[in-house]
Amino acid sequence: MIMREIRILHMYSDMLDLYGDNGNIEILSYRAKARGIETVVEHHSVGTKDTDFSSYDLIYLGGGADFEQQLLAEDLQSCRDEIMKAFDNGTFFLLICGGYQLMGEYYKDSNGEVINGLGMFPYHTAASLNKNKRCIGNIVIEAELNGEKYKVIGFENHGGQTSQTDKPFGNVIYGNGNRFESKDEGYFDKNVIATYLHGPLLSKNPKLADYIIKYCAERNKEPVKMTPLDDTLEEKAREVLFSRLDK
Ligand code: GLN
Repeated sequence: MIMREIRILHMYSDMLDLYGDNGNIEILSYRAKARGIETVVEHHSVGTKDTDFSSYDLIYLGGGADFEQQLLAEDLQSCRDEIMKAFDNGTFFLLICGGYQLMGEYYKDSNGEVINGLGMFPYHTAASLNKNKRCIGNIVIEAELNGEKYKVIGFENHGGQTSQTDKPFGNVIYGNGNRFESKDEGYFDKNVIATYLHGPLLSKNPKLADYIIKYCAERNKEPVKMTPLDDTLEEKAREVLFSRLDK
């Protein structure tokens, strides 16, 4: 029997790991394995040579502080063409917070310094020069996955205010989103989900993890059967998290 495999490229895992963002990869591997799908996780960081970006089904970037974003910006730019090619080849991109900002036009940080983004997507981000002005706290958005509405819960902490997200990931139900008190959160297109939600995102939102696994397992392959998993504990945890927000 041919085993299904998902190839994941985790970029800058040594620098972009705010609030346990690296845990998202563990969730993907765990939930894929429960369906008989193996995951291969490889890494690219500053100085890694000859990464074959298009050979991956998923490219993942977590969140990071302005300092780390500055440190890796040049390396990221040097991979621009190959990363764009991967996107055109249908590789899925999951981008959290700092990673989200770096794939847009630019990020102007809280010192007023501009970090050029890859310009893969039309949005741009600027942080307030007042370092205390940040969007911080729990957040709930309503997203649509395969035509079904799903509440995605997470935690946001960003100074960056993102504009021109013509295709948001979801509508904000609780929290800030792309900007202070905005109605929209993140960016979502066929093979990209970019969001400010840490959490780790996928442990709090198992249906979102399954959406990404299915996409990646089926990239250039036959449809895959996603046997439902017992998510009783995950659902209970979500209930508790939602109930806390009403207080
Ligand atoms: N440094 C960015 C900001 O403050 C991103 C922070 C993050 O990844 N949480 O907006």
